[in-house]
Amino acid sequence: MKLPNAIKIGSDWWVIKMTTFEEEPDKFGECDFENKCIRLNVNQSSSDMFYTIIHEALHAAIPDLVEEAVIRYESTLRSLDIFNKK
Ligand SMILES: [Zn+2]
Repeated sequence: MKLPNAIKIGSDWWVIKMTTFEEEPDKFGECDFENKCIRLNVNQSSSDMFYTIIHEALHAAIPDLVEEAVIRYESTLRSLDIFNKK
């Protein structure tokens, strides 16, 4: 999956960086509000990467949204199973 280096969310550009999260290798991604940066774990499948970007971009777009709501939205999209549809 080819990813952009940055995405515009609202009026701000957010940088997208790939990392391994050495301290927390099971972490899929994180949304760093201070630096306007979305970090993604390189060690995940392309479908997980797709949903992780959506998850983190949703945090960036709607900072007040609680984690549970973001996870529920992500799971709803995952249930569409678009990567396995022909
Ligand atoms: Zn989250």
